[in-house]
Amino acid sequence: MTEIAHEIVDPATEDHVATVRLTSAEEADAAITRADRAFDSWRRVAPADRGRLLRRFAAAVDGAGEELARLEVRNSGHTVSNARWEAGNVRDVLDYYSAAPERLFGRQIPVAGGIDMTFKEPLGVVGVIVPWNFPMPIAGWGFAPALAAGNTVVLKPAEITPMTAIRIGELALEAGLPTDVLTVLPGKGTVVGDRFVMHPAVRKIVFTGSTEVGTQIMARAAGRVKRVTLELGGKSANIVFADADVEKAAAAAPYGVFDNAGQDCCARSRILVERSIHDRFLELLEPAVAGVKVKSPGDDDAEMGPLVTAAHRERVAAYVDDSVEVAFRGSAPAGPGWWYPPTVVLPRSAEDRVWREEVFGPVVAVMPFDDETDAIRMANDTEYGLSGSIWTRDVARALRVARGVETGNLSVNSHSSVRYSTPFGGFKQSGLGRELGPDALDSFTDVKNVFISTED
Ligand code: NAD
Repeated sequence: MTEIAHEIVDPATEDHVATVRLTSAEEADAAITRADRAFDSWRRVAPADRGRLLRRFAAAVDGAGEELARLEVRNSGHTVSNARWEAGNVRDVLDYYSAAPERLFGRQIPVAGGIDMTFKEPLGVVGVIVPWNFPMPIAGWGFAPALAAGNTVVLKPAEITPMTAIRIGELALEAGLPTDVLTVLPGKGTVVGDRFVMHPAVRKIVFTGSTEVGTQIMARAAGRVKRVTLELGGKSANIVFADADVEKAAAAAPYGVFDNAGQDCCARSRILVERSIHDRFLELLEPAVAGVKVKSPGDDDAEMGPLVTAAHRERVAAYVDDSVEVAFRGSAPAGPGWWYPPTVVLPRSAEDRVWREEVFGPVVAVMPFDDETDAIRMANDTEYGLSGSIWTRDVARALRVARGVETGNLSVNSHSSVRYSTPFGGFKQSGLGRELGPDALDSFTDVKNVFISTED
C-alpha cells in the first residue's frame, strides 16, 4: 500500500514530533503545472522588485530564526547552535542573491553589421531535491539563486526531515512571494522526486544526496536534456604535515569530522598524518575527541547530537565491526535516542571499507603517510572529491598540495568549507556544477544571443 503520511520522530528522545502528509505523484504534477504558470509572471517582476521580495523573505526567515532552529533540533537532532547557523545561512543566502536580479548582466559583443548582445534567461521550473543532513541550508542554496534568476521552484525535502522546509515555504508567502513561486512538496524521492525528474515542465534539477541516487537522476534527466546540478557524497582527507601546529591540528580535527554527528558530505573522515608525528598526533587527538560535548542537542553548549534515525545508526555501527581496530572513542548519552560516540579507527590498509566508503557518521580513520607525494596520492585514491584540509606552516607546500588534491573545496589550517559568497561543489563523483557564490546564477539561466542589424 502507498504510504500517505510519515511520522516524524525526535532523534534525541524518540518522541513523536508530527505526522506529515506525503505528496502524491498527481499532486506533484499539479504543483509543477501551477509553478509553470507562475513562471510567466515571476520572470516579469521588475528586477528591483524581485530583489526586494527576496530581502523581505530573508527578513521573515531571520525573524523566525529561533523557531526554525528549534524545529530542526526536534526533527533532525542537530545541535541548537548548528541549527541557528543553518537558519541564518538561509537568510544570508537570500540576502546575497537578492542583489542578483539587478546584476544579471549580459554582454555586448563586437560584430560586423550590427549589435550583438546576450541575455541570461531563466530556465522555467527548477526542481530542488534536498537530503536529510542539512535540510535548511541545502534548500536555500537551491531556491535562492533559482528565484533570483527568475525561475519558479518546486522543492522536495527529504522524507524524514521536512519540517523546516515546510515552515520556510510558509514564510515565503508571508513575505509576499506570489503563490506557486516557491512550492514545498514533502514526499518520497521515488514519487515526488521522480516527478521532478520526469515532468517535462521542470527544466532543471538541483539534487543533493547520495552518489547512487544522483547517478540515476542524471541518467533519467538525460532523456529530456534536463539540466542538473549534483552535490553528492564525499570521503575527504584532512592532511596533517609534521611542520604544522600539531596541537592546533589535533584540537580541530574532531570538529572537521564530528560536526553534525559526521552526517556531513564535507566531513574530513580520513586523517592523513605524516609518519614522524603520527603517534604524537594520536596522543593529542584522544583528549580532543573525549572533550567533544555529545549531549541533548537542544542544550546551548551541545557540540554533537544523535544520528538521524535508528536505521542510520545501524548502518554507521556496521562500519566498526570486529575487523576494525578502534583507537579510542568519545562519549555518548545512554537511554533513548540514536546516539553513537565519536570514534577513531586505525585501518589496516587503504582497501578497508571504513577508509574507502562514506560512513556519514561520527567515525574517523587515521593513517600515516611518508611525504608530500604520498599524501597527495593517498588523498586522491578515492572516487570522491568534495572537500579537505591541509595543515602546514609552509605556504608554498600548502599551495602545492591544494593544487594536487582533486577536490572542490579545500581549507588550509582550518576546516571551513562553506561560505555563501564562494563556490561550492565536487570533483569526480562528488558532483557536477557549483552552488553558492557569484557563479551559481549561471546554472539557473541559459544564455540567449540576439543580433540586431544596423544596416540600412
Ligand atoms: P539520498 O540520495 O538517499 O536522498 C537525497 C534526496 O533524494 C532525498 O530527498 C530523497 O527523497 C531523494 N530521492 C531518493 N531517491 C530518488 C529518486 N529515485 N528520484 C528522485 N529523488 C530521489 O541521500 P540522503 O541519504 O538523503 O543524504 C545523504 C547523502 O547526501 C550523502 O551521500 C551525502 O554525502 C550527500 N550530501 C552531499 C552534499 C553535497 O553538497 N555534496 C551535501 C549534503 C549531503
